[in-house]
Amino acid sequence: MDIHEYQAKEILAGFGVPVPRGGLAYSPEQAAYQARQLGGDAWVVKAQIHSGGRGEAGGVKVCRSEAEIRDYAQSLLGTQLVTKQTGAGGKGVYRLWVEEATDIAQEIYLGFVLDRKTERIMIVASGHGGMAIEELAESDPDSLVRMVIDPATGLVEYQTRELAFKLGLKGKQIGQMVTMLRACYRAYRDLDAMMVEVNPLAITGTGDLVALDAKMSFDTNALYRRPQVEALRDTSQEDAREAMAADNGLAYVGLDGDIGCIINGAGLAMATMDMIKLAGGEPANFLDIGGGASPERVVTAFRTVLTDPKVEVILVNIFAGINRCDWIAKGVVQAYEEVGLTIPVVVRLSGTNVEEGRRIIETSGLPLISAETLAGAAEAAVAARPHPVAAE
Ligand code: GDP
Ligand code: MN
Repeated sequence: MDIHEYQAKEILAGFGVPVPRGGLAYSPEQAAYQARQLGGDAWVVKAQIHSGGRGEAGGVKVCRSEAEIRDYAQSLLGTQLVTKQTGAGGKGVYRLWVEEATDIAQEIYLGFVLDRKTERIMIVASGHGGMAIEELAESDPDSLVRMVIDPATGLVEYQTRELAFKLGLKGKQIGQMVTMLRACYRAYRDLDAMMVEVNPLAITGTGDLVALDAKMSFDTNALYRRPQVEALRDTSQEDAREAMAADNGLAYVGLDGDIGCIINGAGLAMATMDMIKLAGGEPANFLDIGGGASPERVVTAFRTVLTDPKVEVILVNIFAGINRCDWIAKGVVQAYEEVGLTIPVVVRLSGTNVEEGRRIIETSGLPLISAETLAGAAEAAVAARPHPVAAE
């Protein structure tokens, strides 16, 4: 789960990371008001979206008057900001962060990530920050410093000093970097983060370190024990279909085709999508209904799949181990009654209670298409589309 820059800054500041003073705004008037409260004669206005690359996309601006802030805020709020990271649809801008402008002498890159190879938290840093880490790794790989943290000892003092030296920091900056690293590490560890990134970490005109940008993302599987983090979720930044599915505990990924899929297990879901393609069709989504799905859960899966207007047929493919085919079948019948289905539905059931499941489907009197095998189900779904579109 991602959070906004201003939220990450507030969290990191709580652990001791120096950040510029700033305030949040939902309107041009509030943006101007925040600048007035901060005082000074230059402010940075920043679009709060769950994406980096805002600077290049026009989502970050240094302003020198309240009028300029108002105009810029007016032009940005309510728009979809498209960055290199958002995809073509962009992300909606509903919040702005207004902060005191910082005089930047140098930009450093600092990131804490989970390194899957060593199974440890790793620090990645570079004295040439500002640009995205992917670009940095291409254009200036030698500048990258990596450091792995041993979970038994945590981040130790000599490592933080070594990193500061490697970045070429001097004098008071060394102590400031030690504080910065320790704070980021504690925030990462204590809140079950997956990533903490400060880019740029600026060296100011007076030679001090300050976090000018901050990004944090969190382990969704640990949110149950981090209610304070979960409260920061902003669904306006998520794909509406995926957000609805997540709220209902379904794993859903929207795709471009017209065959809606309701499947149990990620592996079977992938295999089914392959079979649909092989049969000449295109899946509209990936959906894993999970184990032990109740009829109600099946109905919710139907509702989720049907939020996509492109869907022309639904393929239900269940290989029931923990699941029960009779529950799934009841769910399909219930979906017909409750959701008012008008499109063809192909059902393939296999495993626990399959006889009872098939009996429910066959005696339902509904126009359900039964299939015995995965290949047969995929072919039936492709054939059942009222307006077939050829696969690429
Ligand atoms: P991102 O593009 O989404 O990563 O957004 P950032 O917060 O990193 O801002 C983009 C760029 O704007 C930074 O790399 C800085 O060069 C610049 N910037 C951000 N804050 C300030 C500031 O206070 N003063 C100045 N002069 N530039 C800033
Ligand atoms: Mn940045």
